[in-house]
Amino acid sequence: MFTRKRIVIALGGNALGNTLPEQMIAVKSTAKALCDLIEEGHQVVVVHGNGPQVGMINNAMAALTRENPNQPNTPLSVSVAMSQAYIGYDLQNALREELRKRGFVRTPVVTIVTQVRVDPEDPAFENPTKPIGHFMTKEEAEHASKAYGYVVKEDAGRGYRRVVASPKPVEIVELDAINSLVDAGKIVICCGGGGIPVTLQGDHLKGASAVIDKDFASCLLAKQINADMLIILTAVEKVAINFGKENEEWLEDLTVSQAKQYIQDGHFAAGSMLPKVQAAVDFAESGAGHTALITLLEKAKEGIMGKTGTKIHL
Ligand code: ADP
Ligand code: MG
Repeated sequence: MFTRKRIVIALGGNALGNTLPEQMIAVKSTAKALCDLIEEGHQVVVVHGNGPQVGMINNAMAALTRENPNQPNTPLSVSVAMSQAYIGYDLQNALREELRKRGFVRTPVVTIVTQVRVDPEDPAFENPTKPIGHFMTKEEAEHASKAYGYVVKEDAGRGYRRVVASPKPVEIVELDAINSLVDAGKIVICCGGGGIPVTLQGDHLKGASAVIDKDFASCLLAKQINADMLIILTAVEKVAINFGKENEEWLEDLTVSQAKQYIQDGHFAAGSMLPKVQAAVDFAESGAGHTALITLLEKAKEGIMGKTGTKIHL
């Protein structure tokens, strides 16, 4: 028997491409994959990453400042907000078109500019790790650090890059609005790029210079809207142990305790597969029947039918 599921879908980099024209094309197949699930009757909430896009916006805004000294530098939180709108626009547009093709002419798609509160004491602020934007020479890096207060790090002999903090998401500020829209059957895109990082200062939410991991933000969202499933769509069909080695083994089904053991044994790369498996574990632990799935974008439909992907459950 069919049971309607509330599903949070986290879209990875391959769902969006790296440039404006690439994104316009990529969102068409992304929309097809999402509509496959909507057509089945599921309630779908979409979260997306923003690595290349926030880097691009950040660079463009920095170039503006170089060109016109009257334009102060743009805070990173504002660049994240811009990326939410830009990606949300392309996704809304592509989803609308695909829904109409399938006869859903009245299903609205809406992007919520989402702020996500982080802890100002999060140790990630003391240790920025996430590289964003273009490569710089030593001189450019020194200038950027003096003029804009950027933290710059040498990146594997390839030059210098700005690195930013990636604190854990604590609270989704617009949660009530998201819940109401999902309850009312709208297709919601939210927490884009992990959400706009903010810290609480009395009644004021102050933008933080950080980029939140979208895998962790989608997990928090899935827990808070009481989703049945968290699906993380990425560039691999399954999660592997001994990834890239001779004894590589693709996993279909993982219990939370197995997953924790594999995390401890170092099977998942930091910054790519590790946050996904951590997010999946966190969600699977959060309530009876909560299941997480990690798979390829094109395999989302087969994945929820249990035919492929890596399923993580209690
Ligand atoms: P996304 O943009 O979807 O977040 P990432 O590049 O951050 O994608 O993470 C997905 C990548 O993680 C895969 O393409 C793969 O190269 C890499 N990866 C690292 N460790 C593993 C593993 N153990 N199993 C599968 N993929 C892994
Ligand atoms: Mg990633």
